[in-house]
Amino acid sequence: MALANENYLKTPEIYCFDEIEKRVNAYKLLHPKSKIIRLGVGDVTRPLPNEVQLAMQKAIAEMGVKETFRGYSPPQGYDFLIEKILKDYRSMGISLNKESVFISDGAKSDIGNIGHILGRDNIIAIAEPVYPVYENATIMSGRAGFLTDEQKWSNIVYLKCNQDNCFTPELPTEKVDVIYLCNPNNPTGTSLNKTQLKKWVDYAIKHESIIVYDAAYQAYVKDDDIPKSIYEIKGAKKVAIEIRSYSKTAGFTGLRCGFSIFPNELKVFTKIGEEVPLIKLWGRRNANYTNGVSFIVQRGAEAVYSPKGKSEVQSLIQYYLTNAGIIRQELLNAGLKVFGGVNSPYIWFQTPRNQSSWSFFQQLLYEFQIVGTPGIVFGNAGEGFMRFTGFSSREGTEIAMDRLRNKL
Ligand code: PLP
Repeated sequence: MALANENYLKTPEIYCFDEIEKRVNAYKLLHPKSKIIRLGVGDVTRPLPNEVQLAMQKAIAEMGVKETFRGYSPPQGYDFLIEKILKDYRSMGISLNKESVFISDGAKSDIGNIGHILGRDNIIAIAEPVYPVYENATIMSGRAGFLTDEQKWSNIVYLKCNQDNCFTPELPTEKVDVIYLCNPNNPTGTSLNKTQLKKWVDYAIKHESIIVYDAAYQAYVKDDDIPKSIYEIKGAKKVAIEIRSYSKTAGFTGLRCGFSIFPNELKVFTKIGEEVPLIKLWGRRNANYTNGVSFIVQRGAEAVYSPKGKSEVQSLIQYYLTNAGIIRQELLNAGLKVFGGVNSPYIWFQTPRNQSSWSFFQQLLYEFQIVGTPGIVFGNAGEGFMRFTGFSSREGTEIAMDRLRNKL
């Protein structure tokens, strides 16, 4: 009799975003002609940069010719892409070894897979509200313990984020081993500045913990006091993995490409206290579990670093940031409490009249034909909040704001 991994049964049967789809489809059935505007979705909508398209077309042509055909990618990724990534870090004053960069098919895979190389007994800290994958991956890997009456997992230390701390996580009072930090954060659009992040790095150094630093939205950072990389903070190479993605930067949500940095200095420990460089374990995992990312997609990612590619990516980001700014201003004008919308494509705001987030979701859909993401899907700490994103079209964003003006 084959047994199931029952840890998988502990996560919700439908991924939280599927419930939104169910409700939107139910509305559409009843109102087939209505023009719904989607401000909830965390997916980009603008087409790929031209430079990326050209690079991939060229790569496809190369794959069709005997002399330039490529088979499996090198396990860590092609040098042509890794060199560009290193140069980009160097431009921020951060020097990294070639061996520390691992190209992947996106940040989500890396976030999920990191659990494979970490001991089962680690105490995990997760900010709340946050991207749900950190918690779900912890549950599925059997590390979460049991669900308490407060609907919390007994072995996870939740880092409460709320209005009082401007939705930025505070240091835990107990010792934790692995800390997930998302900066700028999804869904709250808020960021730890350099001084705040330094406290986390210092904490990790002191407690020999590691930080899994999800920088999927670093390209949206405009303010100098917010770090684009955790390695801007002294000592971070000893304690942090940095995960990046081309998804929200260059429109790769469907293409799939990202990378993780495992500095040589980053160590974990065996039960008898021997040091193990984490990079070694990640290298072994990758060698056995993946054959990497396609040559064509890596050529596309490389094009993001060309002068034209950079400028196209900057225009995309500016487009989404402008949408986010329009939404932020309108919600502020309505007298609501608003977070994010600057240095981030996400706008996080308190529901009017203390409605629950699902009740406000229904109101937005049925009265205004706007889809948001109810805060509760990012954990209980998100109740009473809603997430909008700047990823819609400019026209859609403006129409949606017209619909809401003076009506909330
Ligand atoms: N990390 C965060 C915080 C995200 O919000 C997302 C996607 O929404 C991801 C990672 C996933 O990125 P990728 O498309 O590279 O898998």
